[in-house]
Amino acid sequence: MSTYQLPYQDRRGFTNCLLSAIGGDGANMAAKLLFKIAAEELNLDGAYDAKYGSEKKGTPTDVSLRLCNFGTPVRESGPTNRPHILCVFRENLIRTLGLNRGLQEHATVIVNTCKSPEEIRDALHLHSGTVHVLDAGKIALETHSRLNMPMMAMLAHVLGFPEAAVIKKITETWPRAVEPNVAAYKAAVDQSVSKSFAADGKYQLAEPAEVRSAIGYDNMLDGGAVDTLTQSTVGRNNAYARSNPAPAFNREACIDCAKCMTVCADPGAIVWENGKMVGIDLAYCKACLRCVAVCPETKKGKALTDPAKEGVVTCSF
Ligand code: SF4
Ligand code: SF4
Repeated sequence: MSTYQLPYQDRRGFTNCLLSAIGGDGANMAAKLLFKIAAEELNLDGAYDAKYGSEKKGTPTDVSLRLCNFGTPVRESGPTNRPHILCVFRENLIRTLGLNRGLQEHATVIVNTCKSPEEIRDALHLHSGTVHVLDAGKIALETHSRLNMPMMAMLAHVLGFPEAAVIKKITETWPRAVEPNVAAYKAAVDQSVSKSFAADGKYQLAEPAEVRSAIGYDNMLDGGAVDTLTQSTVGRNNAYARSNPAPAFNREACIDCAKCMTVCADPGAIVWENGKMVGIDLAYCKACLRCVAVCPETKKGKALTDPAKEGVVTCSF
């Protein structure tokens, strides 16, 4: 019999965790592993919701993990809008998605960042709780793991999951990558910096976001069809995913070779008119800078350059 105790319990007996990331970060995989540990090693039950639809890598996504003791009635499996624990894979999502909404009092927040817990508290307008910061990207790089491993490790740590149970599941899930993943797990726990903040009145609790979809039984179109006019992803703004400035474009130096087009992570970002490259659509560009790498040096220089290196600011969001 497990002696594990959930760190929080709402009135229905659940600890609510929200993971906020962008498509391709592996948040879903991390949360699934945690759920597996909870169910198979700690005799817990719960609900799980992953927001798919970030079919183009780089768009915001989130995963809700709601844990309860076995035997607690689990009546729905939708997302949480009242997280006790918030795990942020990309620091810039805090502001762009307003991630403080619905955070409970005395929340636990984990953020992949180089900033201090105090700076993150201010960015998040955190009412009260504990902030854990870690440079998960650096840890992943140094341990030859992936970003989701140090983030999953910190979430397991704040949930109080026994290290042996986590390592057991890592070993079972990725038998050929045990060493780097366990190294990432340990580095995350060792290198994170934490600070607790009392309810000192500096920031108010923010109302939860509305999670109900505009689509539902009470406003469904005839025959249950999806209204593509309002639910299409055509108008999705991928700028949320951009944590660096987009490339700077100099039309004068462009020879319209289209190399940028072939490597672009989202070809909608390269705007082409009448056989000529005319610029970058900031709603689609994720600032991966692949186009900068392949853009040839012409007599007038490179048409695409990294503004961070040139000291040019191209955009902000
Ligand atoms: S790779 Fe550079 S030169 Fe070629 S089309 Fe793109 S911007 Fe122009
Ligand atoms: S940086 Fe270049 S290759 Fe990357 S998404 Fe933007 S336009 Fe495409």
